[in-house]
Amino acid sequence: MILPIVAYGDPILKQRAKEISSSSKDLEILLKNMWETMYAANGVGLAAPQVGKSLRLFIVDGSPFSVEASLTEDEKNELKGFKKVFINPKILQKSDDLENFNEGCLSIPDVRGDVTRPTTIKIKYQNQYFKEITEHISGFPSRIVQHEYDHLEGILFTDKLSALKKKLLKNKLLKISRGNINVDYLMKFDNNRYTK
Ligand SMILES: [Zn+2]
Repeated sequence: MILPIVAYGDPILKQRAKEISSSSKDLEILLKNMWETMYAANGVGLAAPQVGKSLRLFIVDGSPFSVEASLTEDEKNELKGFKKVFINPKILQKSDDLENFNEGCLSIPDVRGDVTRPTTIKIKYQNQYFKEITEHISGFPSRIVQHEYDHLEGILFTDKLSALKKKLLKNKLLKISRGNINVDYLMKFDNNRYTK
């Protein structure tokens, strides 16, 4: 089932999400619905708070992004196989090298902005079977993971933009929070309006 994606302005996007226990009910259904929702919106990542669940869970699949013409073959291959579930993730280390990238977010349609992030991270998490995994992630996959991880901390990429860019976006963000935008996937706005 496709779930409505919560739009910028909803307080759930500003909350720190809660840990999930392996006995959590309905997790399998939530995951199935999140995959369906993410693909329907052509996203490469989706965090549980974006579908109205304040839980420490996000999913990623870099493959839709691997067709971007501007990417090198190595970058494309790196993204193609990058499909994972992250439960209760914790970033343990961040590299000193930083990279800049023009990000977007399914909760903030039609807005993009340059965000600087560490190139490589070391992250510990549980997969969908609650198996604990620790790994290093670099490049585009690292970018996607850090963006989604921020959602669990109640941080949006727009919080990380320059003061000038924030000022320039202020009206547009206000419009989004009021549902005053055109978007081709199902969204829920803070005033209980929905798209479609
Ligand atoms: Zn996002």
